[in-house]
Amino acid sequence: MAIYLDHAATTPIHPDVKEVMLPFLDEWFGNPSSIHQYGRTVRMAIDRAREQVASALNADPARIIFTSGGTEADNFALLGVAAAYSEQGKNHIITSQIEHHAVLDACKYLERIGFDVTYIPVNHQGRIETEALKQAINSKTALISVMYGNNEVGTLQPIEEIGNLARDRGVLFHTDAVQAFGIEEIDVNGLPVDLLTISSHKINGPKGSGALYLSKNVKIVPRLFGGSQERRKRPGTENVPGIVGFGKAAEITASVRAEHRKQMCLLRKALLKELDQERVHYVVNGDLEYSLPHICNLSFPGTDTETLLMNLDLEGIACASGSACTSGTLEVSHVLEAMHLSDEVTRSAIRFSFGRGNTVEEMKETAKKTAQIVRRLMKES
Ligand SMILES: *Cc1c(COP(=O)(O)O)cnc(C)c1O
Repeated sequence: MAIYLDHAATTPIHPDVKEVMLPFLDEWFGNPSSIHQYGRTVRMAIDRAREQVASALNADPARIIFTSGGTEADNFALLGVAAAYSEQGKNHIITSQIEHHAVLDACKYLERIGFDVTYIPVNHQGRIETEALKQAINSKTALISVMYGNNEVGTLQPIEEIGNLARDRGVLFHTDAVQAFGIEEIDVNGLPVDLLTISSHKINGPKGSGALYLSKNVKIVPRLFGGSQERRKRPGTENVPGIVGFGKAAEITASVRAEHRKQMCLLRKALLKELDQERVHYVVNGDLEYSLPHICNLSFPGTDTETLLMNLDLEGIACASGSACTSGTLEVSHVLEAMHLSDEVTRSAIRFSFGRGNTVEEMKETAKKTAQIVRRLMKES
């Protein structure tokens, strides 16, 4: 059996999630906007899912907008806020150099249509330089978008500090919490965030389902038009099985989060310890203290990412080079590039990302096989 260590790309569906979804692929097929009993049953299920998702963030259910996933929620946050605030002459947005492409590419588009975007640099650990962010805020700044935890290296950002900075200056704050949602306790009432993105398939829910949390004071222009669903902010007949599954996944996540985090720390520790025992030279990319423990980005200087991944795959170990969206191309990771690591390190980086079901035994096997491969490649070169 292969070992799956690519949970930052996607996770398997939890059996309980699958079970609650099945009736909605079968007898409960109604349109939630219909007033007859077929519709009403489904409407109730969506309401329940909204409560489950909201509860996992300590949010008011009315502040949750269901979307087709993290990508759409990020795009909605960036483009929707930009459209709303440019009407007041605010056409400046601040983000970081290490965001997911759902944020970065939305920003590139905004630049093409006349917005100014500042991309804040990060340090060698992938932490944003808050001083640079402070300097970047001006009277035209509408929004700051900085991710909660990075999907390639796992580094956590000083979300509270950034949010407070934004609040002091009257600027909205969006955070992509897709990777953090399953690991960190997130309380939107305590955190100074105005918009927050989450995705279902990164927490053992189905793909094609996600949400944007929107606080009360946010003005946002819809990206879609045509119906009254999701408070007219995201019209279209709802992805009912996806939403119901997301609700259940969020409920499970919230109830096991602390335990899950502990388990992820254990796995990462085990992997690194085994690699140490194998006496293979590696470099940790990111920050071991201030990080999401399910993401472990390592470099093996003297080898290269592609060859490593191919060999690991042959040995039955599925991991990645960073973001799934850029793998398949030889492009260097924009995250590692922004961290200004040496070329050797950047070109030999791989990401192990853990999740539900992974075991310490698997970490041992992974470390052994990785060490074998690295030794072989070093001999060959
Ligand atoms: C996966 C991911 C996304 C995209 O979410 P989808 O639901 O796959 O569209 C956005 N941001 C981060 C940090 C991610 O890891």
